[in-house]
Amino acid sequence: MRVLIGLEVHVQLNKLKTKMFCGTPTSYQHAPPNTHVCPVCLGLPGAMPTINMKAVEAAVKVALALNAKVQENTMFYRKNYFYPDLPRGFQISQYDFPIGKDGYVIIDGDEGEKKVRIKRVHMEEDPGRLVHVGRIDKAKYTLIDYNRSGMPLLEIVTEPDMNSPKEARAFVSKLRTILEYLDVFDGSLEGAMRVDANVSIEGGSRVEIKNISSFRGVEKALAFEITRQKNLLRRGQQAKMETRHFDESQEITVSLRVKEEESDYRYFPEPDLPPMNLKGWTERIKAELPELPDARRERLIAQYGISVEHAKVLTGERVLADYFEKVASKTSPKLAATWIADVLKGELNYRDMRIEGCFSPENMVELLELLEKDLISDKAAVMIIRRMLDEGGRPKEIMEKEGLQKIKEDILPGVVESVIEENEKAVRDYLSGKREAINYLVGQVMKKVRGRADASKVYNLLERRLNEIDNN
Ligand code: MN
Repeated sequence: MRVLIGLEVHVQLNKLKTKMFCGTPTSYQHAPPNTHVCPVCLGLPGAMPTINMKAVEAAVKVALALNAKVQENTMFYRKNYFYPDLPRGFQISQYDFPIGKDGYVIIDGDEGEKKVRIKRVHMEEDPGRLVHVGRIDKAKYTLIDYNRSGMPLLEIVTEPDMNSPKEARAFVSKLRTILEYLDVFDGSLEGAMRVDANVSIEGGSRVEIKNISSFRGVEKALAFEITRQKNLLRRGQQAKMETRHFDESQEITVSLRVKEEESDYRYFPEPDLPPMNLKGWTERIKAELPELPDARRERLIAQYGISVEHAKVLTGERVLADYFEKVASKTSPKLAATWIADVLKGELNYRDMRIEGCFSPENMVELLELLEKDLISDKAAVMIIRRMLDEGGRPKEIMEKEGLQKIKEDILPGVVESVIEENEKAVRDYLSGKREAINYLVGQVMKKVRGRADASKVYNLLERRLNEIDNN
């Protein structure tokens, strides 16, 4: 049973200073409810919208970065529907003549790289925010905050090209990376990216899941929904065409309403806003586009000779790639790639930290120099990284204070000898053919020297010594 998933991703252009059709600042994130509003974004009768041309520019940037064709003639429409988060009774959106059409994004799919086609990219305004008290279908009442109302929003619609929840997640994560490279979007802000997912089992009808607000949520909601549809099929029933809501706290989808048809919205051209002609814009903005993730990945591989896997991790965040390049310019790039992509990234994730909050590239360079001069072991380097993340300080300082310098190598054979004497059972195991017992012994030696030796050297010493014993 093949699963087909298409996404509609709503992205706030939250790095812009003002809203889509008025001068109200976009910095509402920490403001009390209903304080970042004006007659336009509150939808008061008679208030006239004006187009934020910076938002149009940002939209062109995004469309180009998603390999879409930018429409020279574009315009706004009214999308009519009633909902309490939409005081005007219609959303200013786009319909025919969206700003971008026919693009694509390359993702890491279940079977290697894969192209997800983008059907359209259009501009619209964000509605207000409804806060349901409790589960949506059981809430006693709902609160409304219009601070979000009128935020510049892009809707990015894909073709149903994803075949698993994992691929859907890979798409949104790639999209976020691209948007952050363009500097039009801060994904860390609440509500910055909301996903609606269309999912069906090939041949069945389409179910839309509304308002998923986290990467994890995309995967969870889809997994739940696919299981639900498959169970229906097994019982000889069909999923009906409907809209469902994802309940993030319970990780289930609940039925909201029978899905509306496009004609229900009675789209018509927005009479208060002029159509736009973007002649000349595309070329100018294209010339100003920054280097994007895929291009940067290829460049890092070519320029620094690092692996594809490392380059993927490093370019997954623009700031991480910047950090790497600062370090790589002053020390061995391959060493830098390994230590940043494998070790540092892991330690940051573990702490729920982002690279912005990490110690400076200079400190990383200093640490890698200690490694290159063979003054510390890999294990000691990891300890230093942890210490710097948790308490600050500089690599050399920490090394000296904690006595992490490598021990003189000529004492290693003695330590190996004493570990062999003290661990008869492991030695016997090894000699009787359980070769993995050597790992335990390596661990014991490393413990005795408090991590200040190369595990691989210890391994070799131990192996040689044990084979001598074996031959006697
Ligand atoms: Mn929309």
